[in-house]
Amino acid sequence: MVEKRNGPTNVLIVGVGGQGVIMVSKVLAQLCQNHGYEVKQSEVHGMAKRGGGVFSHVRYGSAVWSPTIPEGEADVLLALEWAEALRWINFMNPDTGTFIADTQRIVPPFACRARGRGEEAGYAPQTPEEIMAQVRAGYAIDATSMAEDLGNLKAANTVLLGALSTTLEFPVEDWLEVIRGFVPPHSIDINMAAFAAGREWAQAGDKRVEESAKGLHKADVELQQQVITKLEITEEWCKGCDICVKMCPERCLRLNEQLVAELPDPSKCTGCRMCEWLCPDFAIKITNTPVLEAAE
Ligand code: SF4
Ligand code: SF4
Repeated sequence: MVEKRNGPTNVLIVGVGGQGVIMVSKVLAQLCQNHGYEVKQSEVHGMAKRGGGVFSHVRYGSAVWSPTIPEGEADVLLALEWAEALRWINFMNPDTGTFIADTQRIVPPFACRARGRGEEAGYAPQTPEEIMAQVRAGYAIDATSMAEDLGNLKAANTVLLGALSTTLEFPVEDWLEVIRGFVPPHSIDINMAAFAAGREWAQAGDKRVEESAKGLHKADVELQQQVITKLEITEEWCKGCDICVKMCPERCLRLNEQLVAELPDPSKCTGCRMCEWLCPDFAIKITNTPVLEAAE
C-alpha cells in the first residue's frame, strides 16, 4: 500500500501505442474523482501504432497544483511493457515507490536489425529478476499471458489494474464499477476476471516475479530450437494497417481483397514473431512448437 503523506499521490502509467495506457489512466482518474479527490492527469499519446511510447501522469489528493510528476517522485510506476518500465524507472520514488510491470516485450522495429530465427533483438537485456532485486516493492507480472489464458489478451491492462488496486486505498467494488464503464459490454465478464486474477496474484506478496518471466524470455527459448510455426490471424481484429506486411523480413504476408492480412505460403514464414510484436491490434498470434514436442 502506498504510504500516506501530505502531498498528492503520484501514479505514472507507461507503455506503447495500442496497449491501453490512456484507458488505464482514465479508469484511475475517474476512480479518484468518484472519491472526491482533486485529480490532474496529463498524457502523451505518442504513435497510435505499436512502437511509439505513451505515458500518462495521474496525480490525486486534496489539492494538486501541477499535472506532471517530478522525476523520483512516482509512488507507483505501472508499465504495460517491459522496456518502457525500465525507461521510466528513475521516475519512481526509490524509497517508497512500487514497481508494477507486465513482462511482455514489444520489440520496436529499429531493434530488429537481424531477424532470422535465433538472432538477438536489440532489446533491454535486464531480466525481471534483476530489476526486482533493485526495487523496494513491486511485481513483474506476465499479465499478457494471464489475460490470454482467460480468453482475451487485450484484458492484460485490467490484470495490471488488479495488481495496482492492492497498492491504493480504494475498495474493490469501486474499481470494478469504474472498469465496467470503460470496457465494451461484451468483455465485462472477462475484464472482471482479469482484475481478480491480477489482484489475487499481487496479494500473494510485496515483491513477486512471475515464474514464466524468469531467466530467458519464452520467445528466446523458442528461437533457439527447431520449431514448427503456426500463424493465426484474427480477421475481425485486423484493421488492414499494413504494418505486418511491410515489416515481415520474409515478405510472406499480404492484405487480401477485404484488406485483412493473410499468409499465402506458410512455408516461407520463419516464425520470427515480428508481425505478432508489431501488430497494433493483437490480430496475429504465432505459436512455435519445438519439433520434439510436436512429435510426442
Ligand atoms: S509472417 Fe510474421 S513470423 Fe512469419 S516471417 Fe513474417 S514477420 Fe516473421
Ligand atoms: S494483422 Fe495487424 S499489423 Fe497486420 S494489417 Fe492487420 S492490424 Fe495491421
